[in-house]
Amino acid sequence: MPQLAQRVGRAKPSAIMVIAEKAKQLKAAGRDIISFSIGVPNFLPGEHVYAAARESLSHDSGQYGSNRGAEVLLDAFLKHIEALGFSGYTRTNLSIGIGAKHVLYNLAEALLDEGDEICFAAPYWTTYRDIADIVGAKVNVMHCGPEQNYKLTPTQLDAALARKPRVFLFNNPSNPTGMVYTAGEIAALADVLVKHPDTWVITDDIYNSMVFDGIGYHNFVFARPELRDRVIFVDSVSKTYGMPGWRVGLIAGPEVVAKAVTTLNSNHITSLPEVITAAAVAAFSGPQEVPRARCAEFAGKRDIVVAALGAIPGVACPRPQGAFYAFPDISVAFGKSHHGTKINNDVEFCAALLEAKGVACVPGSAFGEPRAMRISYTCPTAQLQPGLARIAEFFAELN
Ligand code: PLP
Repeated sequence: MPQLAQRVGRAKPSAIMVIAEKAKQLKAAGRDIISFSIGVPNFLPGEHVYAAARESLSHDSGQYGSNRGAEVLLDAFLKHIEALGFSGYTRTNLSIGIGAKHVLYNLAEALLDEGDEICFAAPYWTTYRDIADIVGAKVNVMHCGPEQNYKLTPTQLDAALARKPRVFLFNNPSNPTGMVYTAGEIAALADVLVKHPDTWVITDDIYNSMVFDGIGYHNFVFARPELRDRVIFVDSVSKTYGMPGWRVGLIAGPEVVAKAVTTLNSNHITSLPEVITAAAVAAFSGPQEVPRARCAEFAGKRDIVVAALGAIPGVACPRPQGAFYAFPDISVAFGKSHHGTKINNDVEFCAALLEAKGVACVPGSAFGEPRAMRISYTCPTAQLQPGLARIAEFFAELN
């Protein structure tokens, strides 16, 4: 048989999917499973989104569309980002992709040659490493543990940028930690970025609508507008509008980058379907009650999660302030046993927790932090308390 390309071998199956798959199997076998594993919003977009999609279908041209995105979508996105605080952008600064994941892959192809360096903080979203591996980039991880609230410091960033990486990839609010950077923290990091003009900056901020405690969403270009010619903002309808399956991602950045991504689109995907475009336009420009209500709901669930984890002796959980994830440090369990099963690390912890209590969480090592595990709290509230109680029980039974 002929060989596959080496880049395929570099791409690993997602650890999140592995645990989710195991949970699904146990459920199919009749076990009572509570899943805290997948980061999918458990809500649907507003009715106006479906109405726009139906209406679009009734006069669909069936033709290819724009590689950059339909003008109506670009205009809706411009209004959306202006409401977030971006100013001075035009259609030429924008481009589209099939979800933020595809947009990030396009950006990696557009900005990184084989052997170039990309840096990002750990804990990181698993896909960052995979995309870097696929395009053959070198990864420099900046470790940001629970003792620093999982947040990157200006000193760490300065040291990483001194190596002149081609790309710095930033994520705020964070998947997997739920951490959100304040205006002051963003400004301090932006000051460092200004000193290093050779590095592109990607801000993957697709959870920007889910920020709690009045912190607000902040971007480097708000603090230092001169960074606009190097910062690429990534957004998506997936998490904000409960539309992960509709697959719409967008960027706002320097014209040269938007043009490069558009050229890649012309070779990869050509365009988005009209019906999807209409749905995304309705999401961006229609009533914003759904995202607002979900944000309030997630803030309430965050309180429940933090309170429950905080009551477990030895478990530290830096308080998330956005998205729908918590990332407790569970390393107190390492070296102990659960009913005779030895737990040496996060992977064994999550496997034993799923087996013994039917609760699926993702091992932190998937995100570059093996002392922790990720809890995604998008499940119904009725499952949240029992799931957390089972985790507490599991810890209490360790010896
Ligand atoms: N970026 C982060 C930080 C994510 O958590 C995800 C999805 O989980 C994505 C990007 C991909 O989003 P999309 O569904 O738009 O591809």
